[in-house]
Formats: sequence, structure tokens, C-alpha cells
Amino acid sequence: MPVTAVVGAQWGDEGKGKITDLLAQEADVVIRYQGGNNAGHTVVNQHGTFKLHLVPSGIFNPSALCIVGPGMVVNLEVLCEELANLEAHGISTANLRVSDRAHLLMPWHTLLDRLDERERGRQKLGTTGQGVGPAYADKVARHGIQVYEVRDERRFRARVAHELETKNKVIERFGDAPLDAIAVADRVLRAAATLGDRIADTLPLVEHAVRTDARVLLEGQLGAMRDLDWGIYPYVTSSNPLAGGASIGAGIPARCITKVIGVVKAYSTAVGEGPFPTEMKGRDGDALREMANEYGATTGRPRRVGWFDAVAARHAHRLNAFTEIAVTKLDVLGAYETIPFCVAYELDGRRTTDMPPTQVLERATPIYETCTGWRTALDSVGDRAHLPAEARQYLAKIEQTVGAPIGMVGIGPERAAILL
Ligand code: GDP
Repeated sequence: MPVTAVVGAQWGDEGKGKITDLLAQEADVVIRYQGGNNAGHTVVNQHGTFKLHLVPSGIFNPSALCIVGPGMVVNLEVLCEELANLEAHGISTANLRVSDRAHLLMPWHTLLDRLDERERGRQKLGTTGQGVGPAYADKVARHGIQVYEVRDERRFRARVAHELETKNKVIERFGDAPLDAIAVADRVLRAAATLGDRIADTLPLVEHAVRTDARVLLEGQLGAMRDLDWGIYPYVTSSNPLAGGASIGAGIPARCITKVIGVVKAYSTAVGEGPFPTEMKGRDGDALREMANEYGATTGRPRRVGWFDAVAARHAHRLNAFTEIAVTKLDVLGAYETIPFCVAYELDGRRTTDMPPTQVLERATPIYETCTGWRTALDSVGDRAHLPAEARQYLAKIEQTVGAPIGMVGIGPERAAILL
């Protein structure tokens, strides 16, 4: 493995949590490199079913070091709740470290996120309302507070009071009650005290891991179509899920990343707003959503569902150079007699396999080819070679159109339900 990035190749929710949980059994270090608790990585293993929001999916390997990376924005209170829940299930969190350079997601960010969405009205982005966008906005605007700043209580309290002078003006303008600086600082400091020396400079740890050829996993959140630079702006997340983002966000030199695994669902889903060319609306979409249980892990929102979009996945491959693809949820498609597969878009009378910018993508229509379904359950299949011929053809079509080989195939939510 040495340094492997696991990244989303669609709109997010591809099943990265499951793939990371599986690979993490063999990893020494697992690092989340971007995003915040807008993530909801579902992991199903012998300990139960978990929705991880901030904690890397490697937490179930007691000997792996799990790092909340410097590229993340961290709500310390949410992190403490998540750790308490894991501990209550008998999972040790002693090996977790939070980068002291990560940015704090403060209570005002959550409030401002919701107010901003309210103001945008019909143009809303469909964020999870957890404050991640405003926290990154403050980071870029040089108003952010980094995790290490909690170590100097007096200065931290002054920073909070200073930031709230302007934030409260905005909050009040929206008609909401201002936040109390002392109460806010108390909350964050209490959470920081609970974390204790799990807050650390993570660079020496990561550097040591790379130097000693330890097996490092980089866990992305969301997918290429939600990348701040390469996704469907403005309906994007406020960081870079691409493997390029992993280098900065984890603190690993770019040339040390040796493998990039692109995770795709065998079809497509999206949570939030923005163009989604292969979206199935109406009864067909409802049927797939119900059958595949496509509801957001963080918000419980019904996910939008659609057919596989090779233009989107190829776009992700062009930007990530996948060494392999992991296809999840192939089992779900066993219900279909025929399966439409989007190979290109038609745009203003022309066929294209390039991903156009957002406003142009709005008027693209998918060009489908039809794959034959296999109409059988896959749960008893133990080997990829024993998949029905139609399922193998479907996988071959993904490889061909995206341009990278498939290394793993998910046929159920559990850790073991995977063909390597
Ligand atoms: P992530 O954020 O990329 O980790 O994805 P989510 O956890 O939000 O969504 C993936 C969902 O698919 C979760 O409910 C997983 O348990 C489930 N899942 C992952 N792989 C498979 C698979 O191969 N088959 C089935 N049926 N479910 C899967």
C-alpha cells in the first residue's frame, strides 16, 4: 500500500468508508485530509454500524494511528461526541490525533451556514448546515482559528471575543440572537481539554511513517464532482477531495502518494443541489432509492439517484490518475433487466466526453448505451470470476469508459462483502 489515497470519483457517498475500513485493517496510519463533519462515512463491521463524521475510518484497527489532518475544519465538540460514541461501543480512540494546524469549526460557523442557506433561498447550495463552508471561508480570509490556539487560554478567549464582534453583527442582521463569547470559548476549551494530548503536531508522525515505509491511507471526503476547483461550482464543497488535496491536507509530499483508489458506485447518487445529468426522477428514482437505501448519512436526506455517468467518473480519473477503481453496490443493480449507462453527453448538438462547466452542464443530456442486467443476487459470489457474465461485462464497460482497472467490487455493505 505504502501511501494510498482513497478518493470519491462521483458526487460523494460512493462507499469510501467501507473501502477505507477494509484497507485500514492493514494500515499503520489513516488520515482524513479535508472537510469536516459534513462527511458521513458508513462503516459496517463486527462492531456494528457506524456513521463517522470526523474520525478516520481506520479507527476500528486498534493498532493504526488515526489522524484528523491539518486540511480539515474541526468542530471539537462534535469530535468529542463521536469519540464518546465509539468508546461506548468498545472501540479505543487512544490512537487518534488531531492536527494542531487544523482549523476550528466554531459555533458561529454552524449558525452562519444555516443563515447563508436561508438567504440564498431558491439558489441554496444544499449544504449539510454544519458550518464547514463558513469555517473554510474564514480560513481563506485569515480569520480562522487553528486548533493549537486553544493552548493559550487567555489569548484564545480574546480571539473568540474579537471574532464575535463582527460575526454577531451579521448574526443580528439576520434577526438571530448574538453568541456569548465566554460561553462559546468555554464550550470549545472544554472539548479541547477532553482531547488532551491527542491534539498534536502531526507532521513528525506522518513524516516518520513515510520514512519508514509504513502503510499510510489517505481518506477523502465527498467526490470529484464536489471538488472546490474541479466540481460543479458553486454546488461544491469548500475543500479539495481530489488526491492532489490529500498531499496538502495530510502533510505528505505529493510524490510520496503511490496509489490512488477511485471509489465509484455502480450507479450515481448526489446529495445537495447542482446539475446531475443522469438523474432518475419520479417513480423509477424512488424505487432505486428505496431498494438501495439512499439516504444521507449526516442529514438523513433522500439522495438523488441516477445511472452510472462515465463522463463524470472519467473526469475524476483525469484529475486523480487512479491506479485502480473500487466499484461499490454492484449488488443493487441485480434488480434490473436492462441498465442504461451514460457514455457521453450531447451538448448543443455535439457529442462530448469532456466535463463542461456548471452552467453548460445544466443543458447537457446523457447519451446512454444499454447494458444487459444479470437479474440475480450476488451475495453468494465469492470470486470476481464467478460473477454472472453480464455483471462482468458491466464492470468491463466501466473500465473501458473511465480508463482505469477495477481492483475491488462491493456486493454488500459489510466489510467482507467485497471481491478483490
Ligand atoms: P462514503 O461517504 O463514501 O463512505 O459513503 P456513504 O457511507 O455515505 O454511503 C455508502 C453507503 O453504501 C453506505 O450505506 C454503505 O454501507 C453502503 N455500501 C458500501 N458498499 C456497498 C456495497 O458494495 N453494497 C451495498 N449494498 N451497500 C454498500
